[in-house]
Amino acid sequence: MTNGIQAPRGTKDLFGPEFDRFEALERLASGVARTWGYAGIRTPVFEDTGLFVRSIGEATDIVEKEMFTVPPREDKGDDKSYTLRPENTAGVVRAYLEHNLHKTQGLARFFYIGPQFRRERPQAGRLRQFHQMGAEVLGLLREAKGDQPAAPYTAYADVILMAAEILSRAGLKGLKLRYNSVGCAKPGCRDGYREKLKAALSAGKEKLCGDCQRRIDRNVFRVLDCKKPNCREVSAAVLANVPQEFCAECRAQMDFVSPTVKELLPAGVEAAHDQFLVRGLDYYTGTVFEFTAEGLGSQDAVGGGGSYDGLIEEMGGPKLGATGFALGLERVLMSQEAAKAASPEAPAAGALVYVAAAVDSPEPYKLAVRLRQAGIRTDFDLSAPARGVGNHLKRASKLGARLAVIVGEDELKAGEATVKDMAGGEQRRIKAADALAEVKKTLG
Ligand code: AMP
Repeated sequence: MTNGIQAPRGTKDLFGPEFDRFEALERLASGVARTWGYAGIRTPVFEDTGLFVRSIGEATDIVEKEMFTVPPREDKGDDKSYTLRPENTAGVVRAYLEHNLHKTQGLARFFYIGPQFRRERPQAGRLRQFHQMGAEVLGLLREAKGDQPAAPYTAYADVILMAAEILSRAGLKGLKLRYNSVGCAKPGCRDGYREKLKAALSAGKEKLCGDCQRRIDRNVFRVLDCKKPNCREVSAAVLANVPQEFCAECRAQMDFVSPTVKELLPAGVEAAHDQFLVRGLDYYTGTVFEFTAEGLGSQDAVGGGGSYDGLIEEMGGPKLGATGFALGLERVLMSQEAAKAASPEAPAAGALVYVAAAVDSPEPYKLAVRLRQAGIRTDFDLSAPARGVGNHLKRASKLGARLAVIVGEDELKAGEATVKDMAGGEQRRIKAADALAEVKKTLG
């Protein structure tokens, strides 16, 4: 019928009802991202090979074994090697720097949807061309600079909560979030932990599988990730004896993210700290996370991410942090089908509400998340712990917000918020607990 030519292994043709479900999921994901104030970006499907080698890391499975690479064509005057993107974060960071967004925009929030390519052994839930929806927050000032304070850890929680919102709205069952810290590149942080792990794992080396024995020197954290029972047993014993001793910054990040996320996760999503969790890409620092869901067999990760505070600088940019996630859309659909969930409606792109933190407290952020979870398009400044009201109102007006919900020192003490109509200028104080109902009523 096709002269023996078939779609390459690990790829899929998408048509009929499956196409419709896929499209509905894309709409849901971009609708939620916009509700959370993230803007779309599309980067090329292929990039210079060096981009992935530098960002994902030379000693990772992706770079060592799974890249679709096109060699240079000197005869055509093109001495570059190109690679089909195995993930989208590196491309987004490149674009952020190439277009000088760190200078013109400072903090940028992007979401993307598109195909990714990894030459893995195809199996259920593991394709060679698959699709990811992801989001990135780029440009977080990690240390105070002049009169600019360091960015709070809110962004690190924001991406986890947005991913959870998409997965939960998609109707997935048995959603579980696991999170961990992998430490950072500061002296004495990840490197100290790495050396202790290496020493402890080397002592039980003969029990580990061949791959893990090699990983001890090349990428010791991946040993923790191995699912083979023997390796798991050795790792468990090692983790019980080698406490994570990360730097104060990494600890503070986790101390903020963990309770904030747990408090705000959509109903039905379980969350747990899991010291076995590491990620397959080298650029992660600090908090990392993964979501799993029912109906997927052994490949049950529907998405994951974490912070990558060193990558912007590593790629030639300034010292600014970043964080993000990626969801595997085929796996989300598989799990959705197993849960017999109907394709959900995407949140409508309604009027914008701007939540202004005029006091350094997690409360205004929590309020913003609750509005978003109710489907209200809500912007929140992730770049600073707090700003003056005037500064916030300027931003709200520039963004075209209909309402501003302001929480300052006074409001916080009284358990209240100020709701301001951005067009007419009227404002009134309300109970913070009534903010959602008030906003809904006002927006009509
Ligand atoms: P990663 O970029 O490796 O963190 O992967 C993020 C998510 O993308 C995973 O949790 C999976 O849902 C999905 N994913 C990764 N690799 C594949 C693959 N080969 N086939 C299908 N989905 C994948």
